[in-house]
Amino acid sequence: MDTLTAKTRVFALLGDPVAHSLSPTIQNAAIRATGVDGVYVALRCGAADLPGLLRGIAAAGGGGNVTVPHKELAARVVDAPTAAVVRTGACNTFWWEDGRIRGDNTDVAGFRAAVRALVGAPAGARVLLLGAGGAARGALHVLLEDGVASVALYNRTPGRATDLRAAFGDPGCIRVVTDRAALRGERFDLAVNATSLGLHPGDPLPLDFDEVDRVGAALDLVYAVGGTRWVHEAHARGLPAADGLEMLIHQGAAAFERWWGRPAPLDAMREALSMSSRIG
Ligand code: NAP
Repeated sequence: MDTLTAKTRVFALLGDPVAHSLSPTIQNAAIRATGVDGVYVALRCGAADLPGLLRGIAAAGGGGNVTVPHKELAARVVDAPTAAVVRTGACNTFWWEDGRIRGDNTDVAGFRAAVRALVGAPAGARVLLLGAGGAARGALHVLLEDGVASVALYNRTPGRATDLRAAFGDPGCIRVVTDRAALRGERFDLAVNATSLGLHPGDPLPLDFDEVDRVGAALDLVYAVGGTRWVHEAHARGLPAADGLEMLIHQGAAAFERWWGRPAPLDAMREALSMSSRIG
């Protein structure tokens, strides 16, 4: 990326907002570390422009990522979705391959890696999942595939949680929680924040740990320079906890591997993130 050439492949993050994203930081670090001829930029765009931009960038030999609020729309735009896109209904990674636009959901690989880094393989775990948007859908896909014992699913808008459970075939191991007071006295091995609470200063915590009897560990999908308030609160109570940076790195690494057909330089991506948090 040090010298842009006539062959430079262009990758873009498409979404709204995108200005806060650390994807350009990690992807351009990976491009520099491997010496491939590419550049990664962020383009704020509305739903009306998403299909044209995605198709045009891919057809020019590039690709990119899709973020809030367009992941579901992107899943309908790509020509050849992976099984993860079909199962989650969301696409966060696209690229050109064999004359078609391929689409994958690398949030799935990112979430799996983040859970493993925090608590190991979650088979048999009792999980509290907060949120029912795109991130929660990907998380639920992984939790079910990895054989958790149960998932209590809470969302501000209960109908969305019910729809999410139905999208996975209404399995008995998923329980939709409509009344938060019902959580009192319950024990969970892992609590996951898949809401957007924590993105903005002044947001309430997604869960006050006093609302439940016990949580074994807390994984926040939201990330922030220096960690999120929910993660700080968990650490203050002696709980293992992590924010969304590990997931961000691993979804980005999986995307890099799709685009460039080579392993992602995880160390360089981590180093770029830690530099940016020192600057930020
Ligand atoms: P989304 O589809 O827009 O869903 C947002 C979720 O947050 C919904 O469940 C929504 O509940 C809930 N929510 C929003 N405002 C709320 C409030 N004031 N009180 C309670 N609940 C609220 O977004 P998404 O794609 O799922 O993303 C969710 C978060 O995960 C974002 O912060 C995103 O940055 C993060 N994420 C991180 C990574 C990573 O790599 N670390 C990857 C993907 C996503 P309602 O249904 O009631 O509106």
